[in-house]
Amino acid sequence: MPGTHRFEGPSDLHLHSVHSDGTESPAQVMAAAHRFGLRTAALTDHDTTSGWAEAAEAAASLGMTFVPGMELSARHEWRSVHVLAYLVDPDDPPLRAMTDRIRSSRLDRARLMADRISRDYDLVWDDILAQTTDGATVGRPHIADALVARGLVRDRAEAFSSILSPGGDYYIALYAPDPVTAVELVAGAGGVSIIAHPAGRAGLLPTGVMERMLAAGLGGFELGHRENLDAATRTLRRLSTDRDLIVTGSSDYHGLGKPNQPGEHTTDDAMVARIIDRATGSAPVYP
Ligand code: AMP
Ligand code: FE
Ligand code: FE
Ligand code: ZN
Repeated sequence: MPGTHRFEGPSDLHLHSVHSDGTESPAQVMAAAHRFGLRTAALTDHDTTSGWAEAAEAAASLGMTFVPGMELSARHEWRSVHVLAYLVDPDDPPLRAMTDRIRSSRLDRARLMADRISRDYDLVWDDILAQTTDGATVGRPHIADALVARGLVRDRAEAFSSILSPGGDYYIALYAPDPVTAVELVAGAGGVSIIAHPAGRAGLLPTGVMERMLAAGLGGFELGHRENLDAATRTLRRLSTDRDLIVTGSSDYHGLGKPNQPGEHTTDDAMVARIIDRATGSAPVYP
């Protein structure tokens, strides 16, 4: 019912589990959120909703509200764009077809990257498989973990700045839809789309792309995120105020995979309420 909200803050709407590139199970992620004092948390694994059921059950047992989410991969020219998709219908056929396609292309791409890396380093595909959970969305972080396990780099960060760097010899881009298509798919599945870490090192998306995303139903921007840079964040904050857009703040927790801690950025209650009111694809799970 619009206007009636049973969730309580503080709310962190961007966390990852082993269903993509986090290092903890969905239940462990919810437990971590709870330990850090959060009362509402989303699970936003890359290109999959497969962790929702476990997270919802764990959140309920901890007395927390669970917001189902996903971080949908998109790409504009050379740059990857991450579109947070909240409260989508997980069975929406076009969205499912797209996430299936992205996940299968990610698997092919990881194999190709492994082939290239194995020419120069002592690493085989099985090393990478050993770092992934069955059915997980595979990404460079799993290759990074395999490189760490082989003692070739110290941690994920070192892997990303060396062997896995987009400028390097081993990098292969993944298939992903353009950002406008991503927003259309989320809207079609009854969800609310928010551009994740929109003011990072890659710089702002061109205005024209952003306008087309807004016309397609983009809900707003994740302005509270450790990777956002100040000047670009201010630009988006002005735009958000002018257009009355949704703004969020989140941790982008990946367990041990990143230093980000649950609740290091949070989303205001009024903004969580707007996301819930606007979505028709699925509902939060209350304790
Ligand atoms: P991919 O989508 O497979 O190209 O990998 C991108 C993912 O790697 C992102 O979702 C990030 O979570 C993760 N990532 C990017 N840079 C780093 C880093 N320096 N340390 C740890 N994880 C990273
Ligand atoms: Fe990630
Ligand atoms: Fe992201
Ligand atoms: Zn993320």
